[in-house]
Amino acid sequence: MLLALLAILVAGSGTGSIAGRVTTAPTCPVEQEGHPCPPRPYAAHVTASAGGREVAAADAADDGRYRMEVPAGDYTVCADPRSGSSFPRQECRDAHVDAGRDTEVDLVMDSGIRGASGGGGGPPRAERPPIVSDPIPFPARRKYEMRLYARRHYGLDRYTLVHPHVIVEHVTATSTYRATWNTFASDAPDPELHERPGTCSHFVVDPAGQIHQLVPLGLMCRHAVGLNWTAIGIEHVGLSDGQVMGDRAQLAASLKLTCWLRSRYGIALRNVIGHNESLSSPYHHERVARLRHQTHGDMRHATMTRYRAALRRACAA
Ligand SMILES: [Zn+2]
Repeated sequence: MLLALLAILVAGSGTGSIAGRVTTAPTCPVEQEGHPCPPRPYAAHVTASAGGREVAAADAADDGRYRMEVPAGDYTVCADPRSGSSFPRQECRDAHVDAGRDTEVDLVMDSGIRGASGGGGGPPRAERPPIVSDPIPFPARRKYEMRLYARRHYGLDRYTLVHPHVIVEHVTATSTYRATWNTFASDAPDPELHERPGTCSHFVVDPAGQIHQLVPLGLMCRHAVGLNWTAIGIEHVGLSDGQVMGDRAQLAASLKLTCWLRSRYGIALRNVIGHNESLSSPYHHERVARLRHQTHGDMRHATMTRYRAALRRACAA
């Protein structure tokens, strides 16, 4: 009787678990008949995040198995390399957890041996530059608005940013960091498309070269039509491409930040793009017909050719 009561109490406390197995693949450069090339277990560092915040973490065992207890809810589960290297690549999946139940989440990480991102291997490893945390409010209402936006524009039922593939560089067309922060914090419908949530970007680099983080990397932000579902946004305070490219402190900080993000998420150089290049990204996807050709004039191709050349040097250094 007491045990039964206890069981009910535990079930009622609203926790469940996420469990599964992490593997890496492919494990040989070319698969040949008679020589199978099965995925290999991998002792990854596994995390469960909700709303961009880490809720639980576990290290997978040598057989790749892991398990963590979490409150019932929706999570993004990610497997990261443990050694601090770029390989195997981070892999994430969304999961729903019910109280008193196991949710199975198996994760297959890209070993990188076939150069999946092109150009043979991933971006060089880079250190995290100094970043000032200055979050804008992102309450449940804004997350709900973001979820509705993702449904309308991408057919995705989530407000989380999962395994980003693209970094979009922008220019604010404002002259102060504070003005930019205020615009992003307001959550007002944007003046152009009149939609909520309001626009935002994950990072803003100011003219003094200070990097500010406004939004956690696990949340989707509205900064580039067609790409918000998979793109990290970096704004540069300034009035033109030329002003940002001519500001040595600002450019140096921007390159360091972008190198670190590329290293963290395995993002290829060609997927670091300017806002004005958004329509030519292979990741561009927009369900609303009248927006399929919408882009902005900031960070044009000519600017980004110079930016990517500088980035290649900066990341290799
Ligand atoms: Zn822009």
